[in-house]
Amino acid sequence: MLPISPTLPVSIPDLEEIVALRHHLHQNPELSGLENETSQTLQSFLQRYQPDEIVKELGGTGFAAIFQGKEPKAGPTVLFRAELDALPILEQNEFAYTSIQKGVSHKCGHDGHMATLVGLASILHQQPLTQGQVVLLYQPAEENGAGAWAVLQTPAFQKIAPDYVFALHNLPPLPMGQVLVRSDAFAAASVGLKVQLHGKESHAAEPENGLNPGEGMSELIQAFNALVRDQHHFQDLTLLNVVHARLGDVAFGTNPGFATVMATLRAFEQDDLNKLKSLAIEAVKLVAHKYDLKYDFEWVEEFPATRNSAEATAFVEQAAQDLGMDVIRAAKPVRWSEDFGHFTHRYNGAYFGLGSGPDRPQLHHADYDFPDELIPVGAALFYRIAESILNP
Ligand SMILES: [Zn+2]
Ligand SMILES: [Zn+2]
Repeated sequence: MLPISPTLPVSIPDLEEIVALRHHLHQNPELSGLENETSQTLQSFLQRYQPDEIVKELGGTGFAAIFQGKEPKAGPTVLFRAELDALPILEQNEFAYTSIQKGVSHKCGHDGHMATLVGLASILHQQPLTQGQVVLLYQPAEENGAGAWAVLQTPAFQKIAPDYVFALHNLPPLPMGQVLVRSDAFAAASVGLKVQLHGKESHAAEPENGLNPGEGMSELIQAFNALVRDQHHFQDLTLLNVVHARLGDVAFGTNPGFATVMATLRAFEQDDLNKLKSLAIEAVKLVAHKYDLKYDFEWVEEFPATRNSAEATAFVEQAAQDLGMDVIRAAKPVRWSEDFGHFTHRYNGAYFGLGSGPDRPQLHHADYDFPDELIPVGAALFYRIAESILNP
């Protein structure tokens, strides 16, 4: 049995099996939208806790396990979310449960978040709450920003209609078990931009018969970078990062006829992101016009800012304090984006950080792994939040 803090007023008798489940999920990761086995494994495992209902096919592979209180109609519905997906990263860890899917691995700790919700199910099974119901939502495709939106479009999910929504993310390098909260904006909004510039291909010996978009492409990259150099156009931190560029195909005999530039735009304030989006498209139009190129563009992987309600944030903060955990309030939102913002946009909710240790590799790094000792801590914190709302 793993150590569980004596201050946690709950026990998870099958914690060792839940840790083994986490290792199994880690060893068998699946990419965004393809989490069929992961979803099946969890649904089977959760049967032992006799959920009152399992709602399947939420936004694809997603599902919800519902645990009713003794008087389910008498109280609100409180939802906790975990993510099902792994990342297209080759794992650089050597342990008994190293990923067996080459080039795919759990580098964001979603395996740990899933196990944390299983831990919560274990506690709920032993200590059911008085009123209302608790929904454990396993959401697909968080990493590409598609999953939360897809779940929200599903009529079966709309019927669940949660009154409160919560999710946590493990955060290295914060101290193990430290809780990071923030009322209002917690995580930045972001969106990907894919621009195609179209010229005309020709033989490399006859460039005058073609139209090479190379000069336009390099000018566009510089123009993009210039957009965020001066921050005084924006209310708060606003970023644009060119993440990929390509000029034609690899062939010395060909004068290329197309170019691709991809960038990630990011802001704490939605107004800033909207402004940056229109400035970026202006820059594309100017460059295309100057070099006589045709263009098209596409917005991809759009994440709204994750905004927390003051009420839900207070529940998290109070629950953490009740458990004797260290709580800090973030002065600024975190820079990365998170599709849980779609839920907090629609429902009263809060997303918060749970420290996963100062010596841990950063999220999305090839040698990252979720710390098992955080599973009971996260589960107890979620349970305490549910208790404070549903055990009046
Ligand atoms: Zn991630
Ligand atoms: Zn993540």
